[in-house]
Amino acid sequence: MSILEANFDFDKILVNYLNDKEPREHEIGVYRASEVSKCNRALYYIYKSDPKNPGIKQMRVFEVGHVIHEFVENLLKEYEWFIACEEEISKQFNDFTIMGHYDALIKEEGHLAIIDFKTTKNIPTRLYDNHLKQVNTYLHLKGVEVGYVVYIEKNSFKTKTFPIYADKILFEETLLKTKHLHKCLLEGKIPMMEKTPLCNYCNFKKKCFDLYMKEYKR
Ligand code: SF4
Repeated sequence: MSILEANFDFDKILVNYLNDKEPREHEIGVYRASEVSKCNRALYYIYKSDPKNPGIKQMRVFEVGHVIHEFVENLLKEYEWFIACEEEISKQFNDFTIMGHYDALIKEEGHLAIIDFKTTKNIPTRLYDNHLKQVNTYLHLKGVEVGYVVYIEKNSFKTKTFPIYADKILFEETLLKTKHLHKCLLEGKIPMMEKTPLCNYCNFKKKCFDLYMKEYKR
């Protein structure tokens, strides 16, 4: 009797699927709300390099996020106060554009509100600054006063919601920072370092610190 072959390998299917994904293009002059809070130097390196996907480890994590987003958006569509999801919004500011896709737009008690879902390993105790700036940018692009960030813990499906109110001064700061990035990209000048604890997770850490040492020695 011949032995049956058991060769099914789901991971191979998943990895092939992730490897086939087109990397995100970054066009100078078009800046994403989801990236406005990132360090300008890191953004400069991203915009000046060829588009490429992050490693497979990070892509697996992103895909889990996409699956959860799809589930949550389908759930919201069941309700009468749901208006739209994944709508592209953009606005021109002199010589550059800021654009983005919010996760959901709802109507509550006479006003509109934007919701952004964030999948996370652990529910945070406070709203992260980069998420505040991202949603604040959506609010100004869309002309909406209220927003929410909803954190969803991946392993437990526990959630926590933080409200956000449109903050004009914060948006002005975001615009100034983006304007500076745009100027640096056009003039080919690498922006200053913005040393924060996030440098530990930055893909450009070596390149950035090497440049810093070179500048420091001058
Ligand atoms: S290492 Fe820090 S300062 Fe340098 S590019 Fe990355 S985030 Fe910016």
